[in-house]
Amino acid sequence: MRSNMPTMKITWHIKKDLLVCPVCRSLEGYTWTFDTSKDDKMGDVLKHPVYGAVWGLQGSLIKEENGKCRCEIKHEVDLSDAAARLRKIRDRLATKLGRG
Ligand SMILES: [Zn+2]
Repeated sequence: MRSNMPTMKITWHIKKDLLVCPVCRSLEGYTWTFDTSKDDKMGDVLKHPVYGAVWGLQGSLIKEENGKCRCEIKHEVDLSDAAARLRKIRDRLATKLGRG
């Protein structure tokens, strides 16, 4: 299924050192993809299929063995779909004006 709306990707990034707990290590690079037209679906937490809620409004929800979780998430908005949509609208307008 293809969406015409821009998508937002959130990727989990760990601090790459020996203190990272096994849970965080397995989350490294995990990506959530959201359709920005349905952003209400995002909610307040990021959920992982295995570990459940892993990120909340205050940050990481993971309890690392060696202390506070230092993981970060990176937001990335993919506008390629939006650009394609704008092109379509522009073409439609051009057709209309041409016939006008
Ligand atoms: Zn962590």
